[in-house]
Amino acid sequence: MSGGLGIAWFRRDLRLDDNPAWAAATAEHERVLPLFVVDPALTGPAGALRAARLLGDVAALDQRLAEHGGRLCVRVGDPRVVVPAEAAARRAVAVHVNADVTPYAAGRDGAVRRALADAGVAWRPQWGTVVHAPGRVRTTSGALSQVFTPFHRVWARTPWEDWPEPGDGAPLADPGDHLPAAAASYPTLADQDGPAADPGELGAAARLALAAERADRYDDERDRPDLVGTSELSADLRFGTLSPRTVAEVVGEATPGRAALVRQLAWRDWYAHLLHARPELVERPMKPAYAAIAWRDDPAGVAAWKAGRTGYPLVDAGMRQLLATGWMHNRVRMVTASFLVKNLLVDWRVGERWFRHHLVDGDVPQNVGNWQWVAGTGPDASPYNRVFNPVLQAQRFDPHGDYVRTWVPELSGLAGPTVHEPWAAGPLELAAAGVVLGGTYPERIVELAGSRARALAAYAAARG
Ligand SMILES: Cc1cc2nc3c(=O)[nH]c(=O)nc-3n(C[C@H](O)[C@H](O)[C@H](O)COP(=O)(O)OP(=O)(O)OC[C@H]3O[C@@H](n4cnc5c(N)ncnc54)[C@H](O)[C@@H]3O)c2cc1C
Repeated sequence: MSGGLGIAWFRRDLRLDDNPAWAAATAEHERVLPLFVVDPALTGPAGALRAARLLGDVAALDQRLAEHGGRLCVRVGDPRVVVPAEAAARRAVAVHVNADVTPYAAGRDGAVRRALADAGVAWRPQWGTVVHAPGRVRTTSGALSQVFTPFHRVWARTPWEDWPEPGDGAPLADPGDHLPAAAASYPTLADQDGPAADPGELGAAARLALAAERADRYDDERDRPDLVGTSELSADLRFGTLSPRTVAEVVGEATPGRAALVRQLAWRDWYAHLLHARPELVERPMKPAYAAIAWRDDPAGVAAWKAGRTGYPLVDAGMRQLLATGWMHNRVRMVTASFLVKNLLVDWRVGERWFRHHLVDGDVPQNVGNWQWVAGTGPDASPYNRVFNPVLQAQRFDPHGDYVRTWVPELSGLAGPTVHEPWAAGPLELAAAGVVLGGTYPERIVELAGSRARALAAYAAARG
């Protein structure tokens, strides 16, 4: 223990368990200031549901600290100013953090680190938001793989670097400002109740227990938006109420379903490692040729897409689920993203920003990586000529139409899979279901085969 006072600056690691930055702070200092800075540059652009979730998790972290005799100090402002000022006021000897990969975070942390160095305060980063730190997963050539499968192979056999063990350092009991309890509006998914609907790491532990119970079926059910077939842990991983290592340990790899779920954590690490290595991917396509795609300017199409009024029921269901809950099933994310980028030929960055705003799990590396994957512009991307057909996808993955009926209730009178193609229903069937195309439900805004051909031509032209 080096003694003195250390600051544990929480950002997207809102937990005490399995948190290497918190562990290092308590191991190295007698007294620890637990700090959270509400940064308007990050909370401003966040949608209401993500902001509520953040505040709920921060309030829950405060309660956890109270169990250890401490409180969370909450400040509002630019961390580049607030953190060095707090360190100076407290005569702190070190600031402990879990590092982050976004360009914004890298710039912010660089500025804080320099200001602290000028004042003689140590900067102590850990990598507690990913399973493996960026740079640790390298193929035999020593490079970060640009293809997922070899990355995953090495990821799976790379030993976990030791994280520090927590020590006896005590959190300060009255460190300053606190947040009002914000748990009342805390958004969790509809199927979660009881302890699993609670904010913070205790609620997250209950959610993980439920996810682990159904993990054996993950491989069979993960593509079905009409079932609860995935873990629904993405927001907990986003805010760090769960450590990805805890998820991997609790789920384990005893069955194919469990192994498939843990493999998804490798995708999460991969996109983080790629953005860490190439920050420009936030804005630029990884494949340079695709910078020349002649995207369309289509305000009416984009507005219909955002509102869930494209006339394609699966696309509309997904976009409405996003607005109502801040979450969308992965299969439907792929279909809605493909519809915007390929069928409407609208720049993927338009969709990326909309998702980033509304998703509770909205997370720059994952969102950018997946949008580039769907657009065919990114690493190990879906081939450029793959255009998801929203009708075939719906028939295959929402076979009874239950998912669509939940989110597009004006079509709920249509029986079975007819709900996926209301235009194919006869006039009597439509009348009996109370559906008027162009009235109660929109006409299709674009035709699939023609728009697909238009997209392929635009991609071919960009490639020269
Ligand atoms: C266009 C698009 C945008 C996306 N934006 C985000 C985003 O902003 N934030 C985000 O966390 N995920 C994003 N994803 C990935 C994926 O859709 C979500 O992680 C997943 O739907 C969350 O549900 P779950 O927790 O039940 O996932 P599960 O299937 O249970 O997977 C477990 C965990 O693995 C990780 N994971 C799963 N799939 C992926 C993936 N394709 N890429 C990276 N990590 C993955 C997530 O952390 C997830 O919680 C996006 C996917 C697409 C197609």
